[in-house]
Amino acid sequence: MMGDRDYRSFITNAIESISKEIEIKIDSKDFTTIHLHEVVRCLRRSYYDRIDPVAEQRTGFNELTSGLLRKLHYGAESKDFEIDKVKLRGQADMIVDDAIILFRSAEELYENPQSEDILFLNALMWIYNKMDGIIIYITGDRKEVSFSITRNNKMFEEVVRRVRVLTDLLKEKKVPILEPSKNCTSCQYYERCYIKQKLAKQFTIADLVGFNKD
Ligand code: SF4
Repeated sequence: MMGDRDYRSFITNAIESISKEIEIKIDSKDFTTIHLHEVVRCLRRSYYDRIDPVAEQRTGFNELTSGLLRKLHYGAESKDFEIDKVKLRGQADMIVDDAIILFRSAEELYENPQSEDILFLNALMWIYNKMDGIIIYITGDRKEVSFSITRNNKMFEEVVRRVRVLTDLLKEKKVPILEPSKNCTSCQYYERCYIKQKLAKQFTIADLVGFNKD
């Protein structure tokens, strides 16, 4: 709080508005179109986002980079890859000199690209039929590090498998299994996944150590 004004709430509202503007629009009832970001992250989270969503809490402008680039028409047109009767839809942040470019915000300069981002970029290379890709991580203090990646078939097969699993579970209304990761702590479904029951009876410390026994 600065002076009489709560600047934090202005900033949070601004981030929320921009996020809504740039987020990828998903028809949650269309199980024949699966968006790439839904299958490179926890499938359970993607399932809940479609079936019983809770709004995600955004924390900073930095994580909006990729969406803003797409919205400002630096991004390529989204493209579909047919898997049986399902469309896997992806959108590159940029395509330069026949290479797919992906921008990601980062808390620190990573020594290696994040597994979720490698899966995402590799799948984009198959969707756009390109051989090369680059992930650029940008930190809040405007440092950057980049990694180049060449297309890999095995990795794409894993994405295809996950598309099939998510589609089947959505159709059958079955919640996917937990996929514990470092992302769980900031996930809006954390409580739903990990804190299922409250104790029916309230205990005091005295009860637990036996002081209240007759
Ligand atoms: S808390 Fe973890 S396991 Fe549960 S939906 Fe979120 S990311 Fe997936």
